[in-house]
Amino acid sequence: MNCVFCNIANGVFSSNTVFENENFRVILDIAPANSGHCLILPKKHAENIFEMSDELVKEAFSLAKRTANKLRESGLADGVNILQNNGEVAGQTVGHFHIHVIPRKENDEVTIKAKTYDLEESEAIRVMSLLKEI
Ligand code: 5GP
Ligand code: ZN
Repeated sequence: MNCVFCNIANGVFSSNTVFENENFRVILDIAPANSGHCLILPKKHAENIFEMSDELVKEAFSLAKRTANKLRESGLADGVNILQNNGEVAGQTVGHFHIHVIPRKENDEVTIKAKTYDLEESEAIRVMSLLKEI
């Protein structure tokens, strides 16, 4: 196993573990965007969402929601950003599926969104046509 998140998820490498069950481990990010930044890691290797079964994706996002609830109930967050990057072009730096749950507080100065895209109506129509029948 030369995948760092496989090793962490399966307890070979140590981590600050928040929660563990049969299929997942929830850990604290080593370079957090904010205090309490959690990562949801499947124990079975999948590089990204395209390689995950629907069943496991459902479980992963359900666990992200439970993590978000707990962050809020505990007072560590007033809101959360849930992020999940797929592919280098999308900012994925570790090639093992993971979901970020990032706690947010008033005036915390965490930056998630940096720019907007100028989408013309003709392009919107083309995109909607390509995406129909999801
Ligand atoms: P990505 O950019 O791939 O969506 O996010 C990867 C995340 O994993 C980053 O936020 C990074 O700080 C975190 N990370 C990378 N290596 C380790 C590690 O060895 N341990 C932990 N706990 N987090 C890591
Ligand atoms: Zn892995």
